[in-house]
Amino acid sequence: MRHALMLAQKAQDRGEVPVGAVIVLDNQIIAEGYNQPILSHDPSAHAEMVAIRFAANNLANYRLLNTTLYVTLEPCTMCLGAMVHARIKRLVYAASDPKTGVIESAAKLANSSFFNHKLEMTSGTLAEESAALLKAFFQSRR
Ligand SMILES: [Zn+2]
Repeated sequence: MRHALMLAQKAQDRGEVPVGAVIVLDNQIIAEGYNQPILSHDPSAHAEMVAIRFAANNLANYRLLNTTLYVTLEPCTMCLGAMVHARIKRLVYAASDPKTGVIESAAKLANSSFFNHKLEMTSGTLAEESAALLKAFFQSRR
């Protein structure tokens, strides 16, 4: 998660909302991503999506079995959907997102019966650091 926070900082340095993600397999980071929809002209370029694309490419596999995805902010519907499609085993996120988080905040979708894959989940890891980064970013924009 420390590495993911460093990536979130990288997003911030580029004027994007500071969110970072890494994907780990067998205790090794196999992919990373930071939020970059504005820079890459891609509305789907959330940190998780960037990391998932990178990991799938790296493994030459559309399934990311036995991986753990660490992200600094609670995922949105799109990213949760992609994680389910990719069969990510475990999700660990830092801060919750009351506006668009769909694990525990705006909605609780992860255990929906229409998903054919269930993620193991942990939240709150380095949540304060992540929330502070986001708060500072939005305050500086006002
Ligand atoms: Zn997302």
